[in-house]
Amino acid sequence: MRELEERILKDGRVLPGEVLKVDNFLNHQVDPDLMFSIGTEFAHLFRDAGVTKILTVESSGIAPAVMTGLALHVPVVFARKHKSVTLIDDLFTAEVYSYTKKTSNHISIAKKFLDAGDKVLLIDDFLANGQAVQGLFEICDQAKADVMGVGIVIEKVFQTGHQLVKDRGVRLESLAQITSFDDDRVHFASEQTD
Ligand code: 5GP
Repeated sequence: MRELEERILKDGRVLPGEVLKVDNFLNHQVDPDLMFSIGTEFAHLFRDAGVTKILTVESSGIAPAVMTGLALHVPVVFARKHKSVTLIDDLFTAEVYSYTKKTSNHISIAKKFLDAGDKVLLIDDFLANGQAVQGLFEICDQAKADVMGVGIVIEKVFQTGHQLVKDRGVRLESLAQITSFDDDRVHFASEQTD
């Protein structure tokens, strides 16, 4: 998605540890026009997948997920990160190791918001090593919901998350695919095909 790649080149900052900071349009301040375009694009890509629900993880997945839900006219549920592992009776939960925070969190979704047979589209801001998506896969498995696809705003294709999704046999669509960080320069997979 060219609009997104241009915005990454303009406003993204490469931090140590192969982390891209995009806090002025995605991770802290949010650009609603760009999010609307992102949601429209995901809805276009997955329009024939029969999606009944969108799942994401708080907080940075919420903006693109809501815009996708708006375009597909389906509800959006975000997994909450919580510290307590007690009181899990009415929750589906999974443990997720955070790439940026280097800590493990439990993520959870109330059982009443995810049904057996739901056809789920997973949306997240980044795909790095795939831990967040793996946690959402586990929650869908617990609910006996079907994962119809994974939509990622920014994928770092040189990390292991891509293979994790492919091994599961799920369709993966990423709107910007970063192939490398070369000093402070971001390179996209699309440069190889332009
Ligand atoms: P994964 O679970 O795939 O290893 O990492 C995905 C999660 O880590 C995303 O939800 C995102 O919050 C965070 N993340 C991973 N890589 C980056 C990055 O380069 N920049 C930012 N801002 N967040 C990232």
